[in-house]
Amino acid sequence: MSGVASTSGVASMSGVASTSGKAWSPSTWRSKPIKQGVAYADRSAADAAVDQLQRLPPIVTPAEICKLKDSLRSVALGESFLLQGGDCAELFEYCADSPIDSKIKLLLQMSLVLIWGAHKPVVRIARMAGQYAKPRSSPTETTASGRTIPSFRGDILNGFEEASRTVDPGRLVLAYFHSAATLNYVRGQLASGLADLHRPLDWGLGHVRDAELQRKYRRIVGSISESLRFMRTVGADATRKLETVDLYTSHEGLVLEYEQALTRELRHPAGYQPVFNSGKGPSQAQTDGSQIKGAADKGWYNTSAHFIWIGDRTRQIDGAHVEYFRGVENPIGIKVGPSMEPDELVRLLDIVNPRKEIGKVTLITRYGEDKVERLLPLHIKAVQATEHVVVWQCDPMHGNTRNTTQGIKTRHFSSILAEVTSSLKVHEECGSFLGGVHLELTGDAVTECVGGSEGLVEDDLSLNYTTYCDPRLNEKQALELAFLVADHYRD
Ligand code: PEP
Ligand code: MN
Repeated sequence: MSGVASTSGVASMSGVASTSGKAWSPSTWRSKPIKQGVAYADRSAADAAVDQLQRLPPIVTPAEICKLKDSLRSVALGESFLLQGGDCAELFEYCADSPIDSKIKLLLQMSLVLIWGAHKPVVRIARMAGQYAKPRSSPTETTASGRTIPSFRGDILNGFEEASRTVDPGRLVLAYFHSAATLNYVRGQLASGLADLHRPLDWGLGHVRDAELQRKYRRIVGSISESLRFMRTVGADATRKLETVDLYTSHEGLVLEYEQALTRELRHPAGYQPVFNSGKGPSQAQTDGSQIKGAADKGWYNTSAHFIWIGDRTRQIDGAHVEYFRGVENPIGIKVGPSMEPDELVRLLDIVNPRKEIGKVTLITRYGEDKVERLLPLHIKAVQATEHVVVWQCDPMHGNTRNTTQGIKTRHFSSILAEVTSSLKVHEECGSFLGGVHLELTGDAVTECVGGSEGLVEDDLSLNYTTYCDPRLNEKQALELAFLVADHYRD
């Protein structure tokens, strides 16, 4: 773990310096070139917002963060599977019971299907309770009436309505409170039995048009329900394990003023031991710190979410985001798109994870169905030539966004499935394995992606197209994807 024991941030900065060669603190990113940076017109309002954020309590704790890191280590070693999903752009207005309930239930059902298919525990991470910042390819957009206005950058910075496109620093604080309220409700619902597997689950397969497919899905659901019944009967749930599940939160760590304000130097959980790859296989850090120069009882935790990731647009080696991410204890993700060079990927891993902590980094690959078979092997082989042990996760959404002839952003279910299927195959061929999937989805009956067993076509998109950013899988399409991935493992 990084950081030397200290009472002041300055001493601890030098602790991180001893491992990386260059001093790090939660604010060193400010001296680096930044992509997607924010120019706050009202500087004093921005400072006041950051001041307030710095005084507010952590949203998540080191104990939870390290528990997730342990689980991701097991994903990296092939013992568990990672399911991550949620909205592209979470809105403050989604902080309400119904959208939260439907998303939790969907992630839970998908995870049951994946457990059944892969015969492995599933680690669940929601893109929720903080996914309020969006990178944009252009800072402005043109309205239907021909006006040029700033692009919507997510509720943490500006509003979608034309009248609220100016960046408002007060939204940084609102983002905190909406994250906290969302997570509070998630925790409450889980503790109250929302994920209690003693309750019958509603699988709602009536929409599946194809009779053969309908039979196949019913068989899977029947088999899962049977397994749950069996476990209850033999008392395998005596440890109350069936009554709740872990659900972690995540977002893109884009607005660094916000991330910095919630980065706190905190005590590591008692007895927590990270595991590094020593070159001879996994080795536990000793509690006396003998394996880690300058090891201490504290580290810098991003307390805004359990897991944060660097987007494909902000992962420059010398940039502000990579600088920020290299100093935090949290497990982190890096989006890996078609422009990533294999040697650049290795350099990035060396920077953000110099001690080669197993499962610390999740590589979220997103090439597009037509590029994955060419590019993924190059990235896998580059990482295999090092001692980095990562989680390989497939994001089949972001390389497969298309515009319809009417200019509506959509994604084809078949392209999404094709990228996952190709990723599974390429990993197998390379002697690697796919650790998980990263999906944009919602628990509601939206019509944003075409295809799937409901047979949505382009003309249906206008029925319920409600995303403020990228098109999401609806609850039926998401569940179907889980069935198909599970099926792959069963075959
Ligand atoms: C996203 O995950 O919503 C996103 C913007 O992804 P990427 O950085 O891969 O484009
Ligand atoms: Mn997106």
